[in-house]
Amino acid sequence: MSPAANFVRSELPVAVIGAGPSGLAAMRALSRQGLAFVGFERHTDVGGLWNIENPASTVYESAHLISSKSTTQFAEFPMPEGTPDYPGHRHLQAYFRSYADRFQLRRSIRFGVRVTAAVPSEDGAWMVSWEGADGPDSGRFSAVIVASGTLHTPAIPTLPGQFSGEIRHSASYKNPRELSGKRVLIVGAGNSGCDLAVDAVHHAASVDISVRRGYYFIPKYVFGRPTDTLNQGKPLPRPLKQFFDKRLLRMFTGDPRRFGFPKPDHRIYESHPVVNSLILHHLGHGDLQVKGDIARLDGHTVHFRDGTSGEYDLLLLATGYVLDYPFLDPALLGWDGPSPSLYLNMFSRQAENLLVIGMVEASGLGWEGRFRQAELAAAYLAAQKRDPESAGEFRQLLAGESPDVTGGYRYLGLDRMSYYVNKDAYRAELEAHLERLASAGSAAREEANR
Ligand SMILES: Cc1cc2nc3c(=O)[nH]c(=O)nc-3n(C[C@H](O)[C@H](O)[C@H](O)COP(=O)(O)OP(=O)(O)OC[C@H]3O[C@@H](n4cnc5c(N)ncnc54)[C@H](O)[C@@H]3O)c2cc1C
Repeated sequence: MSPAANFVRSELPVAVIGAGPSGLAAMRALSRQGLAFVGFERHTDVGGLWNIENPASTVYESAHLISSKSTTQFAEFPMPEGTPDYPGHRHLQAYFRSYADRFQLRRSIRFGVRVTAAVPSEDGAWMVSWEGADGPDSGRFSAVIVASGTLHTPAIPTLPGQFSGEIRHSASYKNPRELSGKRVLIVGAGNSGCDLAVDAVHHAASVDISVRRGYYFIPKYVFGRPTDTLNQGKPLPRPLKQFFDKRLLRMFTGDPRRFGFPKPDHRIYESHPVVNSLILHHLGHGDLQVKGDIARLDGHTVHFRDGTSGEYDLLLLATGYVLDYPFLDPALLGWDGPSPSLYLNMFSRQAENLLVIGMVEASGLGWEGRFRQAELAAAYLAAQKRDPESAGEFRQLLAGESPDVTGGYRYLGLDRMSYYVNKDAYRAELEAHLERLASAGSAAREEANR
């Protein structure tokens, strides 16, 4: 691209799709770099899925953080004094509202506007199309930052047979009163499945939970402190962490097999941990039962692979979500199976200046981790404007192999683990890349001043 075309393109604003935690982080990082942007949010307010009023929200009335506030919040904007250790969605919605106000982000966000397409132009700019109250429209942008979330499109398993009751995905579940008087089977014991099971024991006529594998259950508190605040800042090497934490769990939650769960087929932290000990409490009280994988549906009867069966009115699928970016040609993200293959889970290798913030699953990365992603994205876009040489060096790096961010953990080969990272390894790479961009910039400046 000619320097003139590059100049014209870099004067265009950046499009940010989504005003959830990741989109807000992106907007804040861009504004710190003095880069113009337009935010697009299909709902009428900020907060993403933590805003239960957002029709795309997948939280429910009882949803609270499973990571504690201090490991989750934005570092430059701590939650207000008096916020509980594990705030619920209403606290979080208020928090994101004040974040947007504090950094004056709202004035650059177009609310009630859904992005329908983002297409790269031949001159290197992006053409973004959207639909809002005024009908369809489009505009040119220098770059596209996708922050549209990962937990919106339900993963629906194929269940053999016919069911005469109701089958729903947890994405549409809001209130435990929806379960009143029903014989409920929760399918899946991830974090949502366990929350829903705990809700159900207080309202449903009966509750069972069907699982395919065993899980490690982490309590929210150990030694009277939020569990994820122990050992902060001093990450243990992987083998030691697995050794100690497995024993710590045995002390606090015991062996989940005692409550009917199968033995896990993986070591601790090789799958996303379940932060919930209430389900064990209710299993111990006989309020619900663990069932095996579903073999077949027949009327109101569910037959399980372990040979048992049960009668149900409602199958509530807590079977997770699939990644979905309907406004982008899949070729632009270089999909590799269930997830896009992006450099550092962020940078498209197929399309220049297509970046994704928040397509990262991890235990304990928090919104600050998403903010550091956003800072790297903004630093790269700013370098294109102010320091094209170091931006060019960085671009070459992005074409190569993405660094290993597993931290040495052998993650289970599940779809949702395909974009999983170890938070310490991932944060270290983000910092190293930020450093690299900054030092390339200062080397180029020194050279120019010589
Ligand atoms: C029950 C539950 C508990 C959780 N607990 C934790 C926790 O303890 N700790 C943690 O770190 N994470 C937790 N999460 C994960 C959660 O995904 C993140 O905290 C965070 O919400 C992700 O933010 P995001 O901005 O990437 O996505 P989202 O919050 O999903 O926001 C995406 C936004 O993009 C908008 N959007 C989507 N498509 C378009 C479009 N085409 N045009 C315009 N706007 C669009 C949506 O309306 C939405 O506002 C939890 C999730 C759930 C469901």
